[in-house]
Amino acid sequence: MLALGIEGTAHTAGVGIVDDSCKVLANVYDMVRPEKGGIHPREAANHHAEVLAPLVRKAADAAGVSLSDLDVVAFSQGPGLGPCLRTAATAARALALSLEVPLVGVNHCVAHLEIGRGVTGCEDPVLLYVSGGNTQVIAFARGRYRVFGETLDIGVGNMLDKFGREAGLPFPGGPRLEALAKGSSTLLPLPYSVKGMDVAFSGMLTAALALRTLGRPLEDVAFSIQETAFAMLTEVTERAMAHVGKEEVLLGGGVARNARLQAMVGRMAADRGARMFVPPGDLCIDNGAMIAWTGLLMHRAGVRMAVRDTVVDQRFRTDEVEVTWR
Ligand code: AMP
Ligand code: MG
Repeated sequence: MLALGIEGTAHTAGVGIVDDSCKVLANVYDMVRPEKGGIHPREAANHHAEVLAPLVRKAADAAGVSLSDLDVVAFSQGPGLGPCLRTAATAARALALSLEVPLVGVNHCVAHLEIGRGVTGCEDPVLLYVSGGNTQVIAFARGRYRVFGETLDIGVGNMLDKFGREAGLPFPGGPRLEALAKGSSTLLPLPYSVKGMDVAFSGMLTAALALRTLGRPLEDVAFSIQETAFAMLTEVTERAMAHVGKEEVLLGGGVARNARLQAMVGRMAADRGARMFVPPGDLCIDNGAMIAWTGLLMHRAGVRMAVRDTVVDQRFRTDEVEVTWR
């Protein structure tokens, strides 16, 4: 069985093709990179509208398959930016209708978890999902993926990108800050905001910008942001693992590419006798392969959607999805 997935919740338009053993046959993408400022939803949607059809062809070429070989088309139904979601959904509907194959709407956060399970071999992990727009600690319990902790304001990646932008770094700021942080070991005080199982980052952003105004070196501020933000994330992830009694931790989302975050979570896991799993970088960021794989799992479990069921949902919650394929 072959599934094609279309991702388009935010800045990345992606198309992936996977088979039923979770072999990723193609995973191509094109990301909006604003010259200045953040992502404008309509501009991002226009970008997706331009690139999605060529990406579908590129994915089929890369996979060495013909579109008529596809058994199912999946797309990211939410959560995300409305105009981007609608563009990806429209592309997916058109493709599925023209190929006369089933169409499956996939929850983007669930897809990060499923591709991690599919490619790393972990079975029942706590997922630390850290991306631009989302920051959640997710685990499977009683038939659903439940959110055990999350950001109360902005995603950790968004915080890194916003700070980077104010500091004059090109988008995305996360990887630039990681490189800068390597040049420092000076920990400056920043708010450590863990509230129960949840985290918050907007206060840290304000405080980090204030440190810059005071003339503190960019390397030191970058180092301090990483140490503080990643310690907060590691703490709530550990608490979720202890609470649900799981011995695997999986990283997902673009920030999961960060070596310092991996080291901190890996150390926490080792201290508990647990294991950490990290998918390859291009399966951590938003990507079409994860949508294809989750769509395939859902289809195989009997999930069927009429076109009217494929309306997008900007606030699609992780725990709304009934997980019938586990
Ligand atoms: P996503 O939203 O999952 O596609 O991931 C994009 C986010 O990941 C952006 O906020 C990036 O700044 C962030 N990101 C990517 N690579 C790194 C890295 N090495 N360190 C920190 N953040 C990163
Ligand atoms: Mg994502």
